[in-house]
Formats: sequence, C-alpha cells, structure tokens
Amino acid sequence: MDNHTTIIIGAGIAGMAAGCYLQMNGYDTMIMEAGALPGGLCTGWKRKGYYFDGCISWLVGSGPNNTFHKFWSELNVIQNMEFVNDEEFAVVNFKDGTKFTLYADVDKLEQELLRVAPEDAALIKILTDAIKVISSVDLRIDKAPELFDLSDFQAFKAKAGEYMEVMKKWGSVTIEEFALQFKSEFVRTNYRKIFWFNVDTAVAYFMATMGWVNAKASGYPVDSSMQLSRIIEQRYMGLGGKIHYQSKVSRILTAEDKVTGVELDNGRIYHADLVISAADGYSTIFEMLEGKYADDDLKYCYENFSTKAAQIYVGLGISRTFDDMPHYMSLELEQPLRANGDSKADNLFVKIFNKHPGFAPKGKTSVVVYAKTSNGYWENLKETDPRQYDEQKKAVADEIIDLLEARLGKIRENIEVVDVSTPHTIKRYTNNRNGSWMGWEKQMDNIMQEKKLKRSLPGLANFYMIGHWTQVGGGLPSVVLQARNLVQVLCKENGQVFSTTIGESSPGVSSRG
Ligand SMILES: Cc1cc2nc3c(=O)[nH]c(=O)nc-3n(C[C@H](O)[C@H](O)[C@H](O)COP(=O)(O)OP(=O)(O)OC[C@H]3O[C@@H](n4cnc5c(N)ncnc54)[C@H](O)[C@@H]3O)c2cc1C
Repeated sequence: MDNHTTIIIGAGIAGMAAGCYLQMNGYDTMIMEAGALPGGLCTGWKRKGYYFDGCISWLVGSGPNNTFHKFWSELNVIQNMEFVNDEEFAVVNFKDGTKFTLYADVDKLEQELLRVAPEDAALIKILTDAIKVISSVDLRIDKAPELFDLSDFQAFKAKAGEYMEVMKKWGSVTIEEFALQFKSEFVRTNYRKIFWFNVDTAVAYFMATMGWVNAKASGYPVDSSMQLSRIIEQRYMGLGGKIHYQSKVSRILTAEDKVTGVELDNGRIYHADLVISAADGYSTIFEMLEGKYADDDLKYCYENFSTKAAQIYVGLGISRTFDDMPHYMSLELEQPLRANGDSKADNLFVKIFNKHPGFAPKGKTSVVVYAKTSNGYWENLKETDPRQYDEQKKAVADEIIDLLEARLGKIRENIEVVDVSTPHTIKRYTNNRNGSWMGWEKQMDNIMQEKKLKRSLPGLANFYMIGHWTQVGGGLPSVVLQARNLVQVLCKENGQVFSTTIGESSPGVSSRG
C-alpha cells in the first residue's frame, strides 16, 4: 500500500476523527489547526475556578443501543467519559409558571402530551409510536453507504425497514406542520417551545432525537466537551498523528487540477498526496481555493442556504447549588431580551451543570444561559464600535441575571463569574461562517437541496471536504460518520481493507473540567 501523506485542515472533531481512521489504516497524516486547542466547536473554557461548557447537550451514541456507540469507542470516548441519561430531556417553563416536561421516557412523554392535549390522543400516539420505532432499531451500519452493494442494501432494508418508513413519512413534514395538526389550543400556541427544536426542521428529526434519548443512547457527559476533544486528540497522537497548532492554512496548493499541499499564513508550504479540509466550508472553497472549483450548485448553497441561527452564551459562576433543578430547561420570557440587538428571542435556554463535579468549586455551580441572537448585529458592533460591543455583552448578561433572579431566586447575590460569548467569538476562535455553531440550519429548504453540497470539488483531484458544512445539520456524530465514511472510500480506492481498532481507557486524559 502507498503510504499516502495526508494533510487535514482543522483539528475539530471531523478533522481529528478523519486523522484517527486514516492512521488506523496506515496513512501518514498531519493536521494543521489555526487555533491553539483541539476540538474546534467542541470546547469549553475555565474562568476563575469555574468551567463553562460550550458544546454538548446530548451525544448520539453515548449509550450502547446505537450505531455511533462503536464509533465513539473507536475514538476512545466511551472508555474515558461518563454519560448521564436524565428522566427529563428538558423542561419548558412558561411565563405563567406552568411547565411542560419533555420526558426522555416515551411513555411518560405520551402522558405529558395527553395531559396538555387530551383531545389529540390519536395524533400523540402517531408521534410516540414513531419514537418507539426509532428507539427499537439499532441500525449498526458499519459500511459507508457509498460502498453498499445489493446484499448490503437488502440487509439494511431488512433491519431498518420500519425505521426508514418513519424517516420517509415524516422527513418532509416540518415540526410546525405536524404541531398545527393538533386540536389543542395549548399545543397550537406553544409548539415552538414544547417541540424544542427549530420548527422548520422535519418532525422526523424530533422523533429520532427523542427515540435515541428514550433508548438511553443519547445522554450528556458529566465530563466536559473539552475533555471529549482532548481524548480524541490523544487517540490521534497515540496512533502516530501529528497536530500543528497555530498553523492557519491560507491557501490550498494545486497544480494541473490536483491538490499538492497547503500554504500557511506565515508562508510555510507543506506538500501532500491528499488534502482533506475539515475547516469552514466557505473559506475552504472561496478563499483557500479562491472559488476556482465552485460549481453552480455550491455557489447556490453558499448564496442561499441559511446558516444555523446564531446564539449568545452567558456563562455564570454561581455560589450556590441547584440540586432540585433539571439540567436542561427553557424559560419563556414576558418580552424579548432588550439588550440582544434586533433579535426577538423570547426564550432563554438554561443548562445547570449540577451533576458535573469538576465544573465548579464545591457548593457552587456553573450555569450556561443562551438565547438566539443576530450574528450581523454583533459582527457589526464589534467592527464599528468595539467599546459598545463590550458594553452590550455586559448589558445582556445583566438582563439575563435579572431574569434568572426573578424566575429562580438567589442568583444576583451569588454571582461570582460572568462570561459572555457572541457569534463573533465563535467566528474568531473557529472561523465558522456567520458564527454558526452547527453549519447549515436543519431547515426544510436546505434539507430538500442538500445534495448540492459535495464532499469533493468538481474538477479537483486529491482533495476532499468533511465536517458540518458538507451536509445539512451538523453535530458531533455526523461529522465523525462523514470522516469514517470518507476513509472507507479512500481505502477502497487504494485497494485496501478498511479496519478500525477500539481504543483503551486512558487515565492520563480523564481529568474533568
Ligand atoms: C454551543 C454548541 C452546542 C452544541 N451542541 C451539540 C450537541 O449537543 N450535540 C452535538 O452532536 N453537536 C453539538 N454541537 C455541534 C458540534 O459541536 C459541531 O457540529 C461539530 O463540533 C463540528 O465539527 P467540525 O469538526 O465539522 O467543525 P469545527 O468544530 O468548526 O472545527 C473546524 C476546525 O478547523 C479549524 N480551522 C478553521 N479554519 C482553518 C484554517 N484556515 N487553517 C487551519 N485550521 C482551521 C478551526 O479552528 C476548528 O478547530 C454544538 C455546538 C455548539 C457551539
């Protein structure tokens, strides 16, 4: 086998996963990472004794009844992280003091829906039956779909028939369309809150997420997102991979429509047989490759697809405990946040890290509050009036602290640390376009045209793209899947059998926070 030298751009989860699978299969790889840390968006940060987690709310594959469980084991994650499956996925708190609980257990969820919408028993059963189907099927897909032969398709159909029926039937119905079939006035008024996700996405996505949660296959870690990134970094380096930090790629080098290497922004040139970009899609296609290999489909996507709605994050170090509170909840507001630019966000999402021993000193708690915001507002403010940008960050935090005080009590007097990040922060640290935290919005218009996005660029050899810009709807499992599938295809093209190994428990990387 040729020992292909491969350069991967970006040490996010996609880039590091690709590196791991390539190293497992004898490729000689190095990763060029613009920043100083592994993980890209899968991150968190320490401030004055507190740790603020910037990523995982749920990880599909954390439990054994799911395809992704094996992949996370290959990357050493399962062996080195502890996950929790709470009774409630999330709790919605309405402004009048009432609640709706999105129970993880589908039977409890059914009861909760019947409580608020007894007249919709038939529709609720359709929903919960679909969730049960998703829960009951462990697809265990090991092979990249690109490599399926007839027998693979037949085996998949036999295993996934019911699952695929759910996805097919509900994949083109939005959450909003589904919710508006309810007769219940409560659901018709509040579906944007109780269905939790963007209501323009397919209801199949809600069914799938709740199905995995019901199967205890999608919990959240008591360790940090940064820890997950460190584990995969160590796995990659243990397999012989090398990461060059603070090495921003400015150009992807080509000769006769073949990629030959990369140039860093300090002028250093590295040659390679293959280059895989796991970095921001726009900057890869239109800056590093100067748009030379963008066809009409790609131009269409980058001109028309909406990117994931931006969010503002406020990390609060609070010197009290929240033992009786759910980990994940939303608070409906009387009116949209005032200090949040032109955004009309009337919902706060609150994550209380009360099961996470390393996140705060004893007797204290790390809390992250986030809300939708406008990327343009913060970008513009940062550029035109940096001082006002800082003031506005403080104003948002102040407003949020007041709101928490009113709703939860004993907040303001116990605040020890406040840390605010905006979409501009995401752009600055990871270069993701529009400060997007998950690539493209998982929204019906985008979903319907997803095929226009590509993993390789027309007319350019020795080059591939992976990561959350190469499909609609990102997320950690899907970027790992893309990386794994790509390496399978490369192995096949190279006449090699794709093989993987399961990592080991590594005490050296298991410190929390
Ligand atoms: C707040 C938040 C919550 C989330 N919650 C979840 C969740 O609960 N579950 C879930 O599955 N997913 C979640 N996600 C989404 C998930 O984190 C992302 O979809 C995923 O991490 C994307 O990985 P990636 O490797 O494709 O991209 P990135 O993480 O963006 O990695 C790209 C890397 O490339 C580097 N780079 C960029 N340009 C260059 C260059 N020119 N040269 C060199 N390096 C470069 C960047 O610095 C970065 O490290 C969340 C994300 C956020 C921010």
